[in-house]
Amino acid sequence: MAIWNPAVECAKRSDIEKIQLERLKWSVQQAYDNVPMYREKMEKAGVKPSDIKTLKDIQKIPLTSKLELREQYPFKLLAVPMKQVVRIHASSGTTGQPITGCYTKGDLETWAECIARIATAGGVTDEDIAQISFGYGMFTGAFGLHYGLEKIGASIIPISSGNTERQINIMRDFGSTALIATPSYAMYLAETAQKMDMLKDIKLRVGLFGAEASTYEMQKELEQRFGILVTENYGLTEVMGPGVSGECEYKTGMHINEDCFLAEIIDPDTEEVLPLGEQGELVLTTLAKEAQPAIRYRTRDITRLIEEPCPCGRTSLRMEKIKGRSDDMLIIRGVNVFPSQIESVLIGQQGIGPHYEIVVTRENYTDHLQVKVELVDASLLDRYGELEALQRKIRNDLHTVLQLGVEVTLVSPNTLKRFEGKAKRVTDLR
Ligand code: ADP
Ligand code: ZN
Repeated sequence: MAIWNPAVECAKRSDIEKIQLERLKWSVQQAYDNVPMYREKMEKAGVKPSDIKTLKDIQKIPLTSKLELREQYPFKLLAVPMKQVVRIHASSGTTGQPITGCYTKGDLETWAECIARIATAGGVTDEDIAQISFGYGMFTGAFGLHYGLEKIGASIIPISSGNTERQINIMRDFGSTALIATPSYAMYLAETAQKMDMLKDIKLRVGLFGAEASTYEMQKELEQRFGILVTENYGLTEVMGPGVSGECEYKTGMHINEDCFLAEIIDPDTEEVLPLGEQGELVLTTLAKEAQPAIRYRTRDITRLIEEPCPCGRTSLRMEKIKGRSDDMLIIRGVNVFPSQIESVLIGQQGIGPHYEIVVTRENYTDHLQVKVELVDASLLDRYGELEALQRKIRNDLHTVLQLGVEVTLVSPNTLKRFEGKAKRVTDLR
């Protein structure tokens, strides 16, 4: 498959690192000179932009937390006059007060370039008809993908999310070949197409899914249902939006746009930088962002960096699938549980659908984990023996992975909530 910008994406490590260092110096200076928060943090730590002489010197600069960014709401992170800002977005606010993201004309160009690379890596070309089923609005997902796909020359259908049956009709009538959505909305779309008996009329070829965590099991399930190639991409408003990284067709991890983002992995508890290849919290520094630089931003997303060569020929570092947000990690009776571990057990099990809910409660000082899943066949509810056997199998499989007792509740088909954007599957009532 094609590579959008081979000069950068397949560059020698030493060349990439040279660009990174040059841009890092610029970005740190930009933040120090124009954003009081970064200047104060650096002064407190006794570090100046001129102390950055190698890439490793970034470790001298303090980390930045989400809370600190929230305190700068809405525009105190701006490094340029508002006059130069041409777009303002905000994060979805999944975990609290949203964070604003501002862009200069140059930032929008960088953003489109980053998306063009990951969309090309995911198989999109100028021949594609791309249905963008992310919600258009403050959320960075839709506009981010929009301008990158336009740069490639794809024909864009800016349908936004929601109105699910209409999505399927448009998909058939316009002959959409690429779908852009969250994995959970893609699943809802697949299910709706099946119910409308229209899967056979759909010409989808590729799916570019992102904005939330999903497992390989979920990816495979989506590939089978739609008969498409699915790749995943990653990003966040705090550093730009989607376009930080994305998978190629080999799915060996998400290739990072390293000329625009410097990635580090830290131990979330000690804040110590971990050696390449170890799992921890992803920390990102923007290298090309003009309006709103982010310096050593703690994403709270848990992953691992991969440096082994990828068969596609790109030489960039890759990010392993996000295991979860550190805030999503549930501690159940002292055991760490990520919802993604539960998803990987559930998807693909015979007899149950791909939708689930996780409910955590505490009774008599003891944590209780309940997983609700839908039956495919409602009549099973009347066949107690079979129902119980299925329940036992899922419970055992979950126990093997989590090392925890879990209550499994099988519910009637089509009773759990469906999502048109990012799914919210966990309810913690403790
Ligand atoms: P919010 O944090 O309010 O959801 P954003 O809309 O900016 O704000 O979403 C960014 C977050 O979405 C990331 O920090 C990450 O947790 C999640 N995310 C985005 N893409 C992926 C992905 N491919 N896999 C897992 N999580 C993702
Ligand atoms: Zn690759």
